[in-house]
Amino acid sequence: MSVLEKLTSADAIALEDQYGAHNYHPLPVVLSRGEGVYVWDVEGKKYYDFLSAYSAVNQGHCHPKIVGAMVQQAQTLTLTSRAFYNDKLGAYEEFVTNYFGFDKVLPMNTGAEAVETALKLCRKWAYERKGINENEAQIIVCEGNFHGRTTTIISFSNDENARKNFGPYTAGFIKIPYDDVAALEQAITSSKNIAGFLVEPIQGEAGVYVPSEDYLAKAKALCEANNVLFIADEVQTGIARTGSLLAVCGNCSCENQCEKQASYVTPDILILGKALSGGAYPVSAVLANDAIMNVIKPGQHGSTFGGNPIAAAVAMAALDVVSEEQLALNARSLGNLFRSELTNYIETSTIATLVRGKGLLNAVVINDTEESDTAWNICMALRDNGLLAKPTHGNIIRFAPPLVMNEAQLKDCVSIIIKTLKQFEK
Ligand SMILES: *Cc1c(COP(=O)(O)O)cnc(C)c1O
Repeated sequence: MSVLEKLTSADAIALEDQYGAHNYHPLPVVLSRGEGVYVWDVEGKKYYDFLSAYSAVNQGHCHPKIVGAMVQQAQTLTLTSRAFYNDKLGAYEEFVTNYFGFDKVLPMNTGAEAVETALKLCRKWAYERKGINENEAQIIVCEGNFHGRTTTIISFSNDENARKNFGPYTAGFIKIPYDDVAALEQAITSSKNIAGFLVEPIQGEAGVYVPSEDYLAKAKALCEANNVLFIADEVQTGIARTGSLLAVCGNCSCENQCEKQASYVTPDILILGKALSGGAYPVSAVLANDAIMNVIKPGQHGSTFGGNPIAAAVAMAALDVVSEEQLALNARSLGNLFRSELTNYIETSTIATLVRGKGLLNAVVINDTEESDTAWNICMALRDNGLLAKPTHGNIIRFAPPLVMNEAQLKDCVSIIIKTLKQFEK
């Protein structure tokens, strides 16, 4: 292909197919531009984005404040490594720890790296503070979890596709059913070697499963009573997505004053990623108080890019946008509107059976088997109607637009979704 010819969608897809590993199965749409809640394909067609890059783009595509901070820092200093100090990291560390209410942060890049960091931190704390014998620590995880793609993380996944033929697996994990306090109590009291409980406050990838109202508070209380670290993976649910700054904030809408609310569950270790950069740059973080974080000493953990000046500048801008634009409150009110409109429709629908979620992290369950391709076909029709969404598992479609959406746009989207679902009524 000549460099003068314009790349078509078909060309771009053919290139990825030929030269890229086939580790994804994308919806056939080739995007070349984004702004706020919209993205455009290479032919110029405009879409509402209802995936937000798996909730990385909560602040909207190419937010000028975030892009501005990134460009300015990129022209000044990009990377020093942690062999030297840089003038942005300390300011960011103070900012992010105050923002979320922890003593310290350990900066990483991707969500999976931050989960790995939290697991290492938990194990080290278990041996050096709790007094578990070396190599005997166990961490409790939930069935249906998604925490990333590293060898250790897939070791405790029960998604066969993510696991099979990647063994041998990392030992030291106990799997229990999600949203099951009795199972947690049984597991936590079954042994003196339990170091931590790793949990998603809402299981996103599994299909947006919202646990019972009091699940997280009860789980936290069990952890406290048994000197076990409560580790919240808020890579997808955090940063205003579910209608509060963090999903562990429960029903408060107080932005940064979450610790004052009774419903707030304070994790011992908080894991953030995705929207920590507003989708501009890979930035992740592990937050904890000194009693836990201080077990890590120089040389024991690190990352060449973790805590680089661009990441620090971008994350501060991205978190400023969340507060300045009150994205948690917006996600909460638009989420309520979304679910009530969809619930009304579903009452008489034969193709959709359920809408569930919190804030702007929602899913619609399609009336077909998990093996059917109906949800995929609906997503293709949504694409044709100008809205991009993707099935999570089988017959479940996740709907998670950028949180900068306004009410008129949301209503427009609801009518596109209902119109499309009606094309599939039986
Ligand atoms: C996306 C995600 C991760 C992994 O993040 P990556 O940046 O893709 O490594 C971990 N946990 C949860 C809950 C996620 O949604």
